[in-house]
Amino acid sequence: MCGIFGVYGHREAANITYLGLHALQHRGQESAGIVSSDGERLFTLRKMGLVQAGFGSSEIEQLPGAAAIGHVRYSTAGGSHIKNAQPFAVDYQGGAVAVAHNGNLTNHEPLRRRLEEQGSIFQSNSDTEVIVHLIAKSRGATLAERVIEALKQVEGAYSLLFMEPRGILAVRDPMGIRPLCLGVLPAGSSPDGSSQPPLAGEGERRSYVVASEPAAFELIGATPLRDIEPGEVVQIDESGMTSSRPFAAAARRMCLFEYVYFARPDSALEGASVYQVRKLCGKKLIEEHPVEGANADDCVVLPVPDSGVPAAIGLAQQARLPYEMGLIRSHYVGRTFIEPSQSIRHFGVKLKLAPNRVALQGKRVIVVDDSIVRGTTSRKLVGMLRGAGAREVHVRISSPPTKWPCFYGIDTPTRSELIASSHSVEEIRRYLTADSLGYLSLDGLAAAVREAESAAGTANGQPGHCHACFSGDYPVAIASDERHHHLRVV
Ligand code: AMP
Repeated sequence: MCGIFGVYGHREAANITYLGLHALQHRGQESAGIVSSDGERLFTLRKMGLVQAGFGSSEIEQLPGAAAIGHVRYSTAGGSHIKNAQPFAVDYQGGAVAVAHNGNLTNHEPLRRRLEEQGSIFQSNSDTEVIVHLIAKSRGATLAERVIEALKQVEGAYSLLFMEPRGILAVRDPMGIRPLCLGVLPAGSSPDGSSQPPLAGEGERRSYVVASEPAAFELIGATPLRDIEPGEVVQIDESGMTSSRPFAAAARRMCLFEYVYFARPDSALEGASVYQVRKLCGKKLIEEHPVEGANADDCVVLPVPDSGVPAAIGLAQQARLPYEMGLIRSHYVGRTFIEPSQSIRHFGVKLKLAPNRVALQGKRVIVVDDSIVRGTTSRKLVGMLRGAGAREVHVRISSPPTKWPCFYGIDTPTRSELIASSHSVEEIRRYLTADSLGYLSLDGLAAAVREAESAAGTANGQPGHCHACFSGDYPVAIASDERHHHLRVV
């Protein structure tokens, strides 16, 4: 998974992009990059690791100009290496272009083979580079025409930002699988809130910003305008903003897992507040899977921080049970999901979460997390909670069993490693050594999103989402070699 951010028409474009990426850091911690434009040339800087570690004031000074795009990366397609860090920036016969991608193309392997047969030389093993080569081969007269021609050949999930020296393009795939949002920033405003008269080349009255999630807008003082629509191409340059929809229409299928885990709770995606969805998931979860005889005297609700917090709040409010910090999270450990070996992963849980005895001792505990992938975290936690004196441990998961790998940009292990792909809920309960285990149903999750949309008055009557990780219903066909790649041992 990745996060992308772009700004056009602001004198502190690189600085604003740095802050935007900082706010999107949860979407990828492996590498960070910014490409800026001074109107003539592109300037690129990419670093491994966190945005804050890689970009200080001396780095930002190397990125001049009033436009920039940036990327934080969590490797899905392609390995963990600086050559795969984004944005990619290249010179080709049409000039300089940079690209930042969130998502995953499902037909990049056959496309890459075809391009290589035709003589293309690839510098990375990222799926995004295929798009760059398709743009370079296009005969289109403008970047927008080349991008559209290239994207008509790719399949899968893409929220994309392109930049050439004189403008940026933001594109969302026809199903809108990954989010992308548009905002505005008063031109001449500084990230600290002060304002200065506009410079030549800077937007007249306002600058546009684009981000994977609107949570990035708050930090820079931008106002969210709207989601970029599925299949929409937004072009931003000195003449302002224009929008087109050049792709064949498709049913909307934004990823439900963005609401479950990935997005920040203070973001609203397609009109539904992520926080509200998660709280409603908790409410529905305890309605679907009550804990028998639970009462406020001897039962407590604990989140697995941070991913389980909003659902645990919703669950505790609905069940009228006390909400406690029974697990304390170290803030110096990042998202510890993809670790090289199972033994390190086990240790990782202990490094990240510690039991808080005083909140647990002698209690019947309901512990809430957003998802179970391999079962490592939950199994470890159940043991930890019992060891700290919990009398009973009831595990509640605010999404359905994760049974299928994601081919659209969320990092999931192979199918054989997903515990729910081969085990029943009862078998998983036994593996976790929990007293009970309940997962939210897919209908419950979809209803939570609908209710959050209605609460915001944004229900659009087109409720389609991608839920392939729960249902196996993949909205975009997977080219057979990509499927093989992900589904190694079933
Ligand atoms: P596991 O220990 O393998 O069962 O992983 C479950 C934990 O990973 C849960 O606490 C989730 O919040 C978290 N999680 C689920 N999906 C992802 C993902 N794609 N990337 C990072 N963390 C995840």
